[in-house]
Amino acid sequence: AATLAAAPPAAAADLPYQDPALPVATRVADLLSRMTLDEKLGQMTQAERASVTGGDITQYRLGSVLSGGGSAPASNNPTSWADLTDGFQNAASATPLKIPLLYGADAVHGHNNVVGATIFPHNIGLGATRDPALVQNIGRAVAEEVTATGVDWDFAPCLCVARNDRWGRTYESFGEKPDLVSSMATIVTGLQGATLGGPASVLATAKHYLGDGGTTNGTDQGNTQLSEAELRAIHLPPFQAAIQRGVGSVMISYSSWNGSKLHGNQFLITTVLKGELGFSGIVVSDWNGIDQIDGATGMSATDVRSAVNAGIDMVMVPTAWKSFLDLLRAEVNAGRVSTSRIDDAVRRILAKKFELGLFERPLADRSYLSTFGGTAHRALARQAVAKSQVVLKNSGNVLPIPATGGKVFVAGRHADDIGLQSGGWTVSWQGASGNTTPGTTILQGIRDTVGSGTTVTYSSNGGGIDSSYRVAIAVVGEQPYAEGQGDRPSGMGLDSTDLNTLTTLRNSGVPVVVVLVSGRPLDVAAQLPNWNALVAAWLPGTEGQGVADVLFGAVPPTGKLPVTWMSSASQQPINDGDGKTPLFAYGFGLTYGGTPVDTTPPSTPGTPTASSVTASGATLSWTASTDNVAVTGYDVVRVQGSTETVVSSPTTSTAALTGLTASTAYTFAVYAKDAAGNRSTRSGTLTVTTTGGGTGASCRVTWTPNSWGNGFTADVTILNTGSTT
Ligand code: BGC
Repeated sequence: AATLAAAPPAAAADLPYQDPALPVATRVADLLSRMTLDEKLGQMTQAERASVTGGDITQYRLGSVLSGGGSAPASNNPTSWADLTDGFQNAASATPLKIPLLYGADAVHGHNNVVGATIFPHNIGLGATRDPALVQNIGRAVAEEVTATGVDWDFAPCLCVARNDRWGRTYESFGEKPDLVSSMATIVTGLQGATLGGPASVLATAKHYLGDGGTTNGTDQGNTQLSEAELRAIHLPPFQAAIQRGVGSVMISYSSWNGSKLHGNQFLITTVLKGELGFSGIVVSDWNGIDQIDGATGMSATDVRSAVNAGIDMVMVPTAWKSFLDLLRAEVNAGRVSTSRIDDAVRRILAKKFELGLFERPLADRSYLSTFGGTAHRALARQAVAKSQVVLKNSGNVLPIPATGGKVFVAGRHADDIGLQSGGWTVSWQGASGNTTPGTTILQGIRDTVGSGTTVTYSSNGGGIDSSYRVAIAVVGEQPYAEGQGDRPSGMGLDSTDLNTLTTLRNSGVPVVVVLVSGRPLDVAAQLPNWNALVAAWLPGTEGQGVADVLFGAVPPTGKLPVTWMSSASQQPINDGDGKTPLFAYGFGLTYGGTPVDTTPPSTPGTPTASSVTASGATLSWTASTDNVAVTGYDVVRVQGSTETVVSSPTTSTAALTGLTASTAYTFAVYAKDAAGNRSTRSGTLTVTTTGGGTGASCRVTWTPNSWGNGFTADVTILNTGSTT
C-alpha cells in the first residue's frame, strides 16, 4: 500500500496558487513546489468511479476519476450525475492542497452515458454533413449537457481517419480523408468554448493518437503498417487541426505502428506530438492501454516505465490504480523514471485544471440542467440528422414521398427503436435495442410528418403489406456495437431478418425505399436493383424526425458520403483514389427540392469562435482574430473563373466587401498575411451566397480553410441589397 508523506503544513486559502489573478504558470510552479512525490503520482492517476471511493481520493490524492462506457450512478439522470461528481470533488477538496479532480467521461455523440441526454448522430453522419460550423455548434450543446453533470473532461472527439470499414469504430470517424476529418476539429472549439474556463467549457480529447483507423484488416487495437511519411500524411493532420484549436488533451491509441505499441512510443508522443506539434496539454492513456506495451497480460513495471517515459502524463488505470502508484513510485525511486518527467506530467495536468477554473469552481454548474436534453439541443440534433442523410438511389423520383394522401407502410426493426437508431456508446458501452432513453423514433417522425389524410401502418417484418400502399419504407441495418466487438472481418451485408423483411416488401410490388441505419457502408450491391431508393441514415441518435424531414422533402438531402461505398466486402479496404470501382464514390449524394436547411439566419449572426460576421447595407464585414499563425490581416480576393481581383486589402483583421447583390453567388479567397505583410500561401475560400432579395434576404457565408485551421462560418442577413458602397 502507498504511504503518504506528511501533509504540507500550509493549507491556508491565500497561497499564491490559490490566487486566480496570478498567471497559470506561476500558480502551477507554486503548487508544484508544495507537492510531495506521492501527491504528484496521485495527480497522474485516473481511476474508474466504481473502483474508487471518496476516501480513496482523499487518501491517495488521485488526480482524476472517469466513468467508463455506461458507468453511471444507480439512478441514471443528470442530477444524480451532478451529485456523484460533486461527491468526488468534495473528497478532493478534503486534501491539504485541495487540488480539484478532472472528472472524465465519453460524451461522443451527446452526453451519451446519461439517460435523457440529447443524442446526436455519430461522427460518420456528421462527416456526411460537410458542415464544420454545425459540428461546432453541436460541440457547444454537448458541453452544456456535460457541464450540467459536473463532468469536466470529455474523451472526444475521435479524430480517427477510418481507412477500412471492417473496423468496429468506423462510425466514430468523420470519414476516410484527412482533410474532411481535420475540418471537423471545430468540435474542439465547441466543447472547450473560445477559451478554457469560459461558460460551459469542457476539456476535449483528440483520440486516438496515432493511426487507430489504419490497422490491417480494420482490426480494432491492431497494427497500422505504414511508412512514416504515409502515417503523417493520412493520420496526423486532424491532430494538428485540433492542436491549432487548443485541444486540451490527446488520448493514445491501443494500436501499434509497424509492430510497436503507441502507448510506449516516445518518438510519436514526445518528439512528434509534444515537440514538433507543440502540444502542451495532457497526454492520457487509453483504458488499461499501458498494459499491452510489453506484450504480457496485466500491468508490469516495464509497462509503467515505458508509458511514462514515452510521454504519457495521466494514466487511465480504471481498477489497478493502487498497483500503478506502487510501480511508478518504485521506478522513480530507482531512477528509471526521472523526477523531471514526473514534474512535466504534473505541470500539464495542473495547468489544465487551473485553466478550466476548477480551483475556483470545482462543482457541477447545475444552471445547465435546465437545457439538458432540452428542445434547443434536440432541434439542433434534428437539423444535424437531416443534413447527414445521404440519398444514394432514387429511381423514378420515389423520393420525396408526398406527405398527404394514401397509405404509407413502414417496416424494419430499426424503424421504432431509439437504441438501434443510436448505436453503440448510448446509455451502455455497446448500446442496446429498445427505448433506452427518451427520443423520437424514425417511425414517430414519419407519423408526425404526414398529413391527417395519410395512414401509416407499421409492421416490423413487413407482414400485412399489400398493393393498396403507395410506398413502403424499410428501416433496416446493423445491431449496436462498440470498439472491437463491431469488427466485421468477413461479410458486411444485412442479416437474414432484414433481408426477409425486404423480400416481403419487394414481393408486394409496392415501391420500396430503404433507409439504412448503420455505422458504415454495408455490402448491399446485390439487393440494390430491388430497391427504388436507398438512403444512408448512419446512426442518427435520438432525433429520428430528421430522417423523416428528408424522406418527405421538408428538407432537401445535402449529405455527401464521408467514406467510399464498396461494391463488395472483398474490396475492403476501399478508399478514394485507390483505383477500385466503388458502388458509390466518396462524396456522392443525390438531392431533390425542398427548403434548404440553413436559410433562416439566427437572431444573432452566427456563433463563430474567433471571428464574427455582420452585414449591413450591401457591405459584408467580418472580424477575424489572429490564431497561432502570426497574422495581421487578410487580402480579400474576388474570384470569378480564373480571374482574381483584390477587393479589399485591410491592414487590420477587419474588412468590408461592397457591392453585393441578392440572389447572386460570389466566391472570395481570403489570403492571410504574415507579420511582415507577405501574403501567406495559406488561404481559404470565403463564399457568399445570397438566397433572396431585398430587405431581410438571407445569406450564408462560409469560409472553408484550405491548409489553415482557423476558418469560420456564419449566417448573416443582407439588410439592404440596394446600396453599393
Ligand atoms: C476506448 C476509449 C475510451 C475509453 C474510456 C476505451 O475502451 O478505447 O475511446 O475513451 O475506453 O471509456
